[in-house]
Amino acid sequence: MQKRSANANKGMGASKKARASTKPADTKGAPEKETQDTEGGHTEEVETFNVFTHDMDTLECDICTLPFDSQIYTCKNGHAACGNCCISMNRRCSFCTETIGDIRCRAMEKILAGMTRPCKYSKYGCTKVVKFMETRKHEEETCPYVPYSCPFNGCTYNGVQLYDHILDDHEQDGQATNVEASYYMGTLFGTRVTLQKGAPFHALLHHDGKTVFMLLNGGDVLKGRSLSIVRMCPRPGPDEEAAEKVEYEMVVRGDQPGSLSLKAPGMRLLRRLEGYLPERFLFVPDAFWGSSGRVTVAVYI
Ligand SMILES: [Zn+2]
Ligand SMILES: [Zn+2]
Ligand SMILES: [Zn+2]
Ligand SMILES: [Zn+2]
Repeated sequence: MQKRSANANKGMGASKKARASTKPADTKGAPEKETQDTEGGHTEEVETFNVFTHDMDTLECDICTLPFDSQIYTCKNGHAACGNCCISMNRRCSFCTETIGDIRCRAMEKILAGMTRPCKYSKYGCTKVVKFMETRKHEEETCPYVPYSCPFNGCTYNGVQLYDHILDDHEQDGQATNVEASYYMGTLFGTRVTLQKGAPFHALLHHDGKTVFMLLNGGDVLKGRSLSIVRMCPRPGPDEEAAEKVEYEMVVRGDQPGSLSLKAPGMRLLRRLEGYLPERFLFVPDAFWGSSGRVTVAVYI
């Protein structure tokens, strides 16, 4: 079985010279004549197949546009979809409304099982060559090089240097604050952040020059707001469980006398903020925000 997969891969990958092309796929899979300089100084004509190209459309689910993973289904007219999409379409092909979800497309599954491809985030530094059927999981869930979409409303930044970007583009607007070391000469002190009630979050830039925390100000609770802190970058590495144990503390003061505080034993690592609801948060009631509509949060990380 191992051997057959290896052969399939070779056959799909290249003829004469095995090489993974990164050229645009204007000649999808077709042999291509190309001249190459050889050591002897003369040129040699070689024939290559462009299989590993940027244009992988034909190997992706037509519905969700993600690379096929373990199972590929077809309707009786040959339209293909991944397992998740069969369920989300209620097992009705969205192209022809025939039933879909019973017939597996095993020939294509076999071909893809023998293929590998470089991670699509190679331009951001990922050097992984992943089994094709595992690219969805890698690129959607585990790749540490997925670019960030800046979470600030209206910002179009998409890249891996989120820390530098927030520092350059959002710190002056008061949407981000540099977090100083919480201990100085043995004394614990917090970084003070002024938080507007309507702001969904405030970025906290760690003094290590690479870590971005987000002070989340959730509107998902009645008669108040939910405050919590998550880490956005750096991305989780292989030993990242330890990072989830980063403790933090916050003390909130408003117009009223007194304060509210939370000591949390761990911090979640998030790739994106959308849809996230914290399990543990500090409830800050509407009255606490007062007429100014803002509070001061002292953060200890
Ligand atoms: Zn799909
Ligand atoms: Zn169909
Ligand atoms: Zn990757
Ligand atoms: Zn931005």
